[in-house]
Order: sequence, then C-alpha cells, then structure tokens
Amino acid sequence: MRTLEQILSLRTYVRGIRETRQGGKLIGFVPTMGALHEGHLSLIRKAKADCDVVIASIFVNPTQFGPKEDLAAYPRTFARDQQLCMEEGVDALFAPTVEEVYPSGFQTVVTVPEIAKTLEGEIRPGHFAGVATVVLKLLNIVLPDRLYLGQKDFQQALVVDRMMQDLNHPAELSLVPTVRAADGLALSSRNAYLSAGERRSATVLYGALQAARAVVEAGEMSAEVALEAMNQVITNEPLARPDYICIVNPATLNPVERVDEAASLAVLAVRIGTTRLIDNAILIPPGSATTRLRFMWP
Ligand code: AMP
Repeated sequence: MRTLEQILSLRTYVRGIRETRQGGKLIGFVPTMGALHEGHLSLIRKAKADCDVVIASIFVNPTQFGPKEDLAAYPRTFARDQQLCMEEGVDALFAPTVEEVYPSGFQTVVTVPEIAKTLEGEIRPGHFAGVATVVLKLLNIVLPDRLYLGQKDFQQALVVDRMMQDLNHPAELSLVPTVRAADGLALSSRNAYLSAGERRSATVLYGALQAARAVVEAGEMSAEVALEAMNQVITNEPLARPDYICIVNPATLNPVERVDEAASLAVLAVRIGTTRLIDNAILIPPGSATTRLRFMWP
C-alpha cells in the first residue's frame, strides 16, 4: 500500500492506473477522518468487493468543525489506521496536511442549502458546507468511479448525493449500512470520549430506534406514536440530552406524519455527557418496499 500526502503524487498514482494496462479498472474511494473502526473497515471491504482499486483518505477536515467543537481533541491514531488500511488491502492511502488541502488564498465553498438546513445542519451551522466542499475536493483529486459513505451519517450522504447530482460529478454513491457494537451502539470515533458509565447509557440511541421499529412493525402508522416511543426511551436515561428526535422522509428530511407510504427515517442526535452521538434507522411499514431511496442499497 502507498501512503501519499501530496495531491500531485495522488494524481500521478491515479493517472498511472488509468493510463496503463489497468485502464479499465474501477476505482473505489473511502473518505474518512481516521480513528478507524469496523464501520470504516466495512466501507473499505465493500469497496474492495466492488472495485479493482481502493483508495482511502484520512483527513480531519477543519472546515466541518464549529468553533466550539472537538477539532483539537478529535482522536488521531494514524499509525494504527495505516496498518488497518494495509491489512484490508487498500491500494493507496491519501493523508494530506491541512495546508495541502487548504493552501493560503483558498476561498471557494460548496453549500447545499435545503438538505443542510435541518437536523445536523441546524445544530451545526456551516458543518455541511465544510463536508460538501472537502468531499468535492477529494472527488476531484481522486477521480473515483464509486464513493463509499456510511448510513450512520445519513444526512451527510444526502448532502453529498445532492451536491454530486447538482454539480454533475460522475461518480456513483454507495451507502453502506451502519456497523454496530454487540449492544447496538453505532460505532463512531467519538465513542472513545465516553466514560464506562456513559458508554452504557449510549445504548439508548439504538434502544430508541428499536422502539420506533417495533411500533411500525406492529402496524402503527402514526409517526407521532413512534416518536413518543423514542422519546420515552431517551427520557428514561438520566445521562441523555436529546438535540433532536425526528421521523422524516429519507429523500427530503421533511418530517412525516404517517409512515404508511414508503420507508421513513427515524433519526436522532443525543448528548451523553459532553459527547454528541447520532444514529438513524429506516422504518419500513409491513408490506412496503424501500423504493423511495435513490441510493444503491446493498
Ligand atoms: P468519519 O471518519 O466519521 O468521517 O467517517 C468516515 C465514513 O465512515 C463516513 O462515510 C461515515 O458515515 C462512515 N461511518 C462512520 N461510522 C460508521 C459505522 N458505524 N458504520 C458504517 N459506516 C460508518
């Protein structure tokens, strides 16, 4: 595996793949902020299964962190991440510095105003502009055929999908299901911030999603009833402080009143102590199909 820090070396590497006998090969790209866990590795494995060449990136993108967020404290485990990428058969790891990605004079920003104005975007102003901008830059550098993102950050995937469509980026987006710990907690680099007690409490996010699922699977069509079940689970956990708990249309992120027509998305952000966790689940009413989702679904 090559580790490349410069845009020029990555471009040369990719051009080499395209221009030599490997020209017809599919390139898959997995962008990450490092502190890799099984969730990231499942993206890499999916990319390996689908593509001939897999490029991963590790870049803690400063522009997607708000002034009061955890940029300085964000876990950085580069040597271990590099080892894991090698073990998973990543062909090239792109690990640029902040100066490489944002040289002096940098000023262009990509915004996706509608999708980004609710949920995470409402609580974290500017976050998705940082995400959309860096993802487009990475796509322009790597020029992959496929981009792999995780369902855990569902709104992020919607923002990127919209941006790619609006700006005619030819890569295909593939969404990979959320990988969870045995007790249901979605794996996240931020789980490292949790104390042992907080880690136990953090299972309420999954508990709330399961409660919503149980309501819908029992044939209840009212989103309000499913929301009530979610709220109940969160309220019962003293360490949990919700930022939002919603049931939305997964294409628009607008709240739905009924979950009877097609798949809906239960989505929540909860603070456990000082750590902010997010999670989501697709709610499929009995007898319905997930046809409203535009992503490739495994
Ligand atoms: P991050 O390093 O947090 O920016 O995440 C990099 C990619 O990994 C994003 O596409 C995330 O959605 C995805 N990801 C993070 N956690 C998980 C998980 N538990 N399961 C699947 N994908 C994940």
